[in-house]
Amino acid sequence: MNALNPSQLWKKRLGDWVVNPYVGCEHGCLHCYCPAMPGVKFFNGGRGQAEWGKYLLPKEGVVEALSRQLKTFTPAKAKRTEWGDGWVLMSFLTDCYTPAEATQRLTRQCLELLLDAGHKVRVQTRSALVERDFDLLAAHKDRVRLGTSLPYLDDAVARILEPRATGPTRRLKMLEQAAARGIPVYVAIAPVMPWTEPAELLTLAAWAGELGATEVFCEVLNPKGENLAGMERALREGGRVGLAERIRSYDAGAWASATSATLRLLAGGRAFVPWPDTGRAWAKHLPADEVSWLGRFLPPSSGLQGACKSLV
Ligand code: SF4
Repeated sequence: MNALNPSQLWKKRLGDWVVNPYVGCEHGCLHCYCPAMPGVKFFNGGRGQAEWGKYLLPKEGVVEALSRQLKTFTPAKAKRTEWGDGWVLMSFLTDCYTPAEATQRLTRQCLELLLDAGHKVRVQTRSALVERDFDLLAAHKDRVRLGTSLPYLDDAVARILEPRATGPTRRLKMLEQAAARGIPVYVAIAPVMPWTEPAELLTLAAWAGELGATEVFCEVLNPKGENLAGMERALREGGRVGLAERIRSYDAGAWASATSATLRLLAGGRAFVPWPDTGRAWAKHLPADEVSWLGRFLPPSSGLQGACKSLV
């Protein structure tokens, strides 16, 4: 088993490599599209999206495997990728601070190994449990970035849509504490919801700026797998019928339009690098002149810039 694997997330300027110490994520966010990804589907024993959040499979031997890999995988080798930045991500098909990490400590051990080996590590989590490892992150602050998702600051909605993650206002405090200790922080405004107003988006980006965030990423809610059906159901059950209706009328065309509107709002900033499949949705759902304008925002080697342009 390889613990450290190439990541396609360089296309979003996030990182070149990834370590996922677990399969599954106890946080159980309903928007999460990880259960539809091959890296989860092929390793979760056939569990479907409805079971997401209800299982966690620690990767047996992941720490030992990483230790073996790092004997030859140097920071110089980590840069030999298409993007060539060498960042290692923890983690992007699970949350590496899922509650069981408090006792399993696989993330902590992997983090220690990576940092001792001189690698640059980007940690993204929806959990305040990461505060346990601030000592490690602060000791290597020239080579780490810590980020959290702040799609909104409504803890009541978060309790419905991210049932077992730390609430967003507490996550914001976690980032503030990290920044106060000199740990470089970033914010992912993700996912931008169909009901997110432009003013709210700009406010979130402004807060990130006040925190001294090194980067602000942005990702618009992506209809994938069965995530929309689960969100709509949970919002109805939670009494948020208006929001459930917004999800019900949300589809790939709405996603294409919302990504376009977000890019227009934030264009010129460093906030939003769309995922390559966004380009396909644009090409299918938006007018040619808009597709042409949007194509410039796609990652250079996604191959889709040309595809978008050729439709014009
Ligand atoms: S914390 Fe991240 S990986 Fe876990 S369920 Fe939520 S979105 Fe998915």
